[in-house]
Amino acid sequence: MKFPRPIRILLVEDSRDHAVFFRVALGKAFKHDHEIDTACSLAESFERMDEKHYDLVVLDLGLPESQGMETIETFFRVRGPSNPVIVLTANSGEDIGEDAIRVGAIDFLTKGEFGADQLARAVRYGLERWRQRMELEEAQRNLKSFAHVAAHDLKSPVKSISLYSGLLKEMMQARSADEEEIEYLGFVEAFAEQAEKLVDSLLHFSVLGEKAIALDEVDVEALARQAVSNLTAKVGEDGALVEVAELPKARADEGLLIHVLQNLIGNAIKYHGENPPHVKVEGVVRGGEVQFSVSDNGRGIDPKYFARIFEPFKRLTGVNDQEGVGLGLAICQRVIDAHHGRIWVESELGSGSTFHFTLPLAEGHEQELEPVGFERVESFR
Ligand code: ADP
Repeated sequence: MKFPRPIRILLVEDSRDHAVFFRVALGKAFKHDHEIDTACSLAESFERMDEKHYDLVVLDLGLPESQGMETIETFFRVRGPSNPVIVLTANSGEDIGEDAIRVGAIDFLTKGEFGADQLARAVRYGLERWRQRMELEEAQRNLKSFAHVAAHDLKSPVKSISLYSGLLKEMMQARSADEEEIEYLGFVEAFAEQAEKLVDSLLHFSVLGEKAIALDEVDVEALARQAVSNLTAKVGEDGALVEVAELPKARADEGLLIHVLQNLIGNAIKYHGENPPHVKVEGVVRGGEVQFSVSDNGRGIDPKYFARIFEPFKRLTGVNDQEGVGLGLAICQRVIDAHHGRIWVESELGSGSTFHFTLPLAEGHEQELEPVGFERVESFR
C-alpha cells in the first residue's frame, strides 16, 4: 500500500522512558519518513489533534487521568472514530487489547513484547486495515444514498401512475367501456400499487441506521396491540385471530420496534394456510434479555430457506406475489441487530412458523424470570 509521506504519528504516553523507546523504534522502522509528536495525557492529545492532522495515534491505555478501557472509550467519545488508533497495553495476559479492538482500535501491542520490526508491521498493517475500513464505509454511504435518492425520486411518478390509472378505470367503467380494456387497466393499477409498496419499503430500508437508535423502556405489550390495530384491515380481511399475552418490558427504540411487530404479525396473517390465521405474541425473560415470539398456524417455511428469508428482496416462490416485496424481514433483522439482539425462525412446511427475537431487558425487570403465560390474552378478531 501507499503510505502518507511523511507518516504523522501522535504518541500518547506519559512515561518518558517509553516515549524515548518508541521514538527510537519508529525511527528505525520508518527512517526519515515520519514525524512524531508526543502528548502526556488525553487532554493534551486532544489539543494536539485540534492543531494538526495525524495519520496514526499510538495510545497508551495507562495515563494519569484514566486507565484501561476508560482511556480508549473517552478517546472515541471525544474524537469520534476519525483517527486510526493502536493501543499499548501493559499486560499480555489480559483481554483488554481485544476489547479495545472491539470498540474501534485497529491493533494493540503489549509493552516490552515488541521491537522495531513488530512495531513497523503493526503500523503498516494497521494503516492498511484503516484504509480498507474507510473505503468500505464510503462505498456503503454511496450505496445507501443512491438507494435513498432513487426511491425518493420514484415515489412521486409511481404514485401518479397509480392515481391516474385508478381514475381512468372509474371513467371507463362509468361509460361502460370494453370489459377487456377495463381489466387491463386494472392490471396497470395493481402493478403500480405493488411498485408503490416497493418504493416505500426501499425508502424505509435505506434510512434505517441513519439515525442513532433511541433506547427507552418500552411497554412491548401496548406496542404489540398498537401494531395489531394498525393492521386492522388485514386482520378483518383474513378473519384472523391475534392473541397478545402479557409481555415483559424491554429497552428498545419504540419507533423501530413497532415495524418489527407489524411486519411479523402481518406476515403471520398473510402467509396463512387452509385455516383462518391464528397468531400468538408471547414473551419470556431469559438470561438477562427478553425473548419475544410471534407464532402462527400458517403455511410454514422449509428450513432450507431460514437464512435466505432475512436477506433483502428474498421471497419464496409459490407465494402470492402481489402481497409483498421481500424487505419486511430484512428490516426486522436490521432493527434487531441495531439493538444487539438476535432474530430467527422455527418452522416446518405446513405446520406454522414461530419468529423469535431478543431485546435488552428494561432496567429493574431482572426478577421476572418465569415465562409469562396467556392468562391475560387479548384477542383482536
Ligand atoms: P414479503 O412479505 O414482503 O415477501 P418478508 O421479508 O417479510 O417479505 O418475507 C420474506 C419471505 O419469507 C416471504 O416472501 C415469505 O415467503 C416468507 N415468510 C415470512 N413470514 C412468514 C410466515 N409467517 N409464514 C410463512 N412464510 C413466511
